[in-house]
Amino acid sequence: MSNIKEIITKEVDRRRTFAIISHPDAGKTTLTEKLLLYGGAIRLAGSVKARKANRHAISDWMEIEKQRGISVTSSVMQFEYNGYCINILDTPGHQDFSEDTYRTLMAADSAVMLIDGAKGVEAQTIKLFHVCKMRGIPIFTFVNKMDRASKDPFELMEEIEKVLGIQSYPMNWPIGTDGDFKGVYNRKLKQIELFEGGNHGQTVVSSQKGSIDDQVFADLLGDHYYNKLREDIELLDMAGEEFDKKRVLKGELTPIFFGSAMTNFGVQPFLEEFLSLAPCPGIKNSSAGEVDPTWDKFTAFVFKIQANMNPAHRDRIAFMRICSGRFYKGMEVNHVQQKKTVKLSQPQQFMAQERTIVEEAFAGDIIGVFDPGIFKIGDTLCEANSDLKFEGIPIFPAEHFARVMSADTMKRKQFIKGINQLSEEGAIQVFKQIDIGIEALIIGTVGVLQFEVLEYRLKNEYGVDIKMQHLPYKHARWIENSDIDPRKLTLTSSTMIVQDENDRYVLLFENEWSIRWAEEKNKDLVLYDIAKKVE
Ligand code: GDP
Repeated sequence: MSNIKEIITKEVDRRRTFAIISHPDAGKTTLTEKLLLYGGAIRLAGSVKARKANRHAISDWMEIEKQRGISVTSSVMQFEYNGYCINILDTPGHQDFSEDTYRTLMAADSAVMLIDGAKGVEAQTIKLFHVCKMRGIPIFTFVNKMDRASKDPFELMEEIEKVLGIQSYPMNWPIGTDGDFKGVYNRKLKQIELFEGGNHGQTVVSSQKGSIDDQVFADLLGDHYYNKLREDIELLDMAGEEFDKKRVLKGELTPIFFGSAMTNFGVQPFLEEFLSLAPCPGIKNSSAGEVDPTWDKFTAFVFKIQANMNPAHRDRIAFMRICSGRFYKGMEVNHVQQKKTVKLSQPQQFMAQERTIVEEAFAGDIIGVFDPGIFKIGDTLCEANSDLKFEGIPIFPAEHFARVMSADTMKRKQFIKGINQLSEEGAIQVFKQIDIGIEALIIGTVGVLQFEVLEYRLKNEYGVDIKMQHLPYKHARWIENSDIDPRKLTLTSSTMIVQDENDRYVLLFENEWSIRWAEEKNKDLVLYDIAKKVE
């Protein structure tokens, strides 16, 4: 037994499971490719891009889903580097940004926040950052595209602190930020690492390095850059935050790395520092107390369900994050919510392009299993105590809304069946408008593409054509007070009152202003933003 425990402990210690959060075009695909490259997965490195190209047009995307019978939009890339076993969780962005993007963050132990040096903190990064912050996971920042003109690095630090409310500690410091990038100063090693144009290709680059006190660098950089660097470093050392690993691990301080993914500059030092600082899978809370990742009993929770887009194969794939124990192919586990035993017989692991059958996996790993319709988001699987339940996955308030009804009233039954199914998968959120008939439902989504998926799937899987009217709402807020009758609230004429599937009252607002208005005019009203927990 102790042998198993030793194996599990060793495997857990070397695992790092993280997601990259960024705004479209910041360079996530490029950075992922380079990380895979260092992991020796050169073949995969090129394919990340190909995969991304395929995702641009919805019709293509549907086609790919159909042909392959699985989803290409959800994957985990696993690779080895220096003895570490690394899982990068892919967070869908662009048009396929959806609740899944948020849910994926529930399975990560840390996050890499990727920022375009010229653009600073952008909208999608802010949203994803808040989810990471809510979870209290460590966040590492990579400021990308330093080979081009970027914002002043002190300004960037201030922006990160002001907009995101997190303090930062630059691990390195850029030299030349007006499109004249010379390299970085590594604060830990107190050395300069020169940028020599980098390498756009697929090979690992080395750069000239040496102590800042070495006259060679003073000569190479010239007085202007050299003196500015000295001043900047002095200012950082005096006025900046101190490096504190405990605060990094609590998500209070973000280490910043400046680099350029495309030219492959600063990626390897970043990866190495990240691996040594980022946490391995940790303890998770459950209804039966804390679950240690090295516990010899397998536990996992479902964080995402991916439908099969091929109507001939209705099965879905449930993605689960392992929290403890050892997983092996064909094992039988308790499905806690359904109170029955299930066999995990065809476990898949999703690589950038291919899927492979998993023989063995440990805490921190993600596996996908075929789901004949028995899993829901937030379900717990457990080898031992069948009462153990992990905390649920929060609902992320929708940002796009539409009134949806069946074009043919005779098909209402099928329509409702399809809507329920999609809602169960977590692909849409369903609301009922109060005080009117239930002919039309209000559907909320986090990403716009989800409406197209809804239309496509209802037609293809349920034979239902729908009528859809997009609504101008942007924000959903749950009413916390159970004693409030929402009809009696003072609200702007454009605010809509709806109920969610659990009959909780929700207000739909067009803008932030009307939320504030509602709060000011109704002093007792308590509105809930993101992360209303599911029981
Ligand atoms: P994603 O949307 O975040 O996945 O971004 P991509 O990785 O596709 O990158 C968006 C664009 O930025 C592409 O044209 C990349 O070639 C470019 N890019 C990525 N990294 C860098 C970099 O370090 N420097 C420069 N100059 N361009 C970059």
